[in-house]
Amino acid sequence: NSVFHHVVQAPEDPILGVTVAYNKDPSPVKLNLGVGAYRTEEGKPLVLNVVRKAEQLLVKDSSRVKEYLPIVGLADFNKLSAKLILGADSPAIRENRVTTVQCLSGTGSLRVGGEFLARHYHQHTIYIPAPTWGNHPKVFGLAGLSVKTYRYYDPATRGLDFQGLVEDLRSAPSGAIVLLHACAHNPTGVDPTSQQWEQIRQLIRSKALLPFFDSAYQGFATGNLDSDAQSVRMFVADGGECLVAQSYAKNMGLYGERVGALSIVCGNADVAGRVESQLKLVIRPMYSNPPIHGASIVGTILKDSSLSQEWTIELKAMADRIISMRHQLLDALHARGTPGDWSHIIKQIGMFTFTGLNSEQVAFMTKEYHIYMTSDGRISMAGLSTKTVPHLADAIHAAVT
Ligand code: PLP
Repeated sequence: NSVFHHVVQAPEDPILGVTVAYNKDPSPVKLNLGVGAYRTEEGKPLVLNVVRKAEQLLVKDSSRVKEYLPIVGLADFNKLSAKLILGADSPAIRENRVTTVQCLSGTGSLRVGGEFLARHYHQHTIYIPAPTWGNHPKVFGLAGLSVKTYRYYDPATRGLDFQGLVEDLRSAPSGAIVLLHACAHNPTGVDPTSQQWEQIRQLIRSKALLPFFDSAYQGFATGNLDSDAQSVRMFVADGGECLVAQSYAKNMGLYGERVGALSIVCGNADVAGRVESQLKLVIRPMYSNPPIHGASIVGTILKDSSLSQEWTIELKAMADRIISMRHQLLDALHARGTPGDWSHIIKQIGMFTFTGLNSEQVAFMTKEYHIYMTSDGRISMAGLSTKTVPHLADAIHAAVT
């Protein structure tokens, strides 16, 4: 009795599904380490003070209206976003060869970039790291690209499989697109060293591969916005072309505002202008134009030096709390005499630890300890607090002994 009677139940999203299961659990000790959202020591979501301030300034300004933004979004926001990732003194910006469009957070920026490449770039194969954020293959596949992987993580060392990465990129077809996590690789927390980045850069340029950076954690890895942008800046400093998708979800805590940007660094200003005109043709039939509120918050903060300064302090505090959680968890495992080498907990960087726990161990921890995480053993360090570290350490200890 429905024209949709044949529609089958779809599986829960593997990452967001963790929260669905968590919400159903009545246990008072339950702990959600599945989703990559920052929590305070008290386990609460955090709205940055500087964001509250910016919102108050916006509310007070009665000249502000709710008209549509242009297809490419807020002009100030776009300029400031390009400067944030490429550097205020970036020659590429000075030479007007960067086009930036406001998109729906990191995901929307990746999708718009992917569709642009599928329409206008001669190579339709994109190489993504194995493993990577679970949405990457779907975003790029639906954008019309053909998705392949390159080796990235070595379970034996719980570190980078640099040799595998180099071999795979070396045997990629000339011109192929390569997705790179700008910093704080998700889910592994493993980043190349700066020497390794330099070797990757040389290899990519020598084979004329096209780098597409996903920058979802700028400032979250080290606490410093410039340090976390070094990988991208190396690739722009050599004069070559690249794409960058930026998200303000984590570093400004604007998750639900869906604010991000896609920048395409082009060979010259002429090309950049034409590329922008085609980006508009990708965006217009997809969602017409982006939302105004989140981008206005970011714009208000980034164009004011004292608000920007405040932001960097709050951002550093979030990054520092995560780093402190890493040390507390490692200490707690040492105190319990948990077998195995757990030093990767403090070596890995960013929001996540790729624990090395397998799916049975994860299922055990969920069943017996009410701890929720993705089945690949990834835990969000941002969801942990001094109070909950002992519970997690008990669970890991029990799972591996
Ligand atoms: N890219 C990576 C690697 C991520 O981890 C995420 C979020 O978890 C995103 C992109 C996109 O996030 P958003 O669309 O919320 O900005």
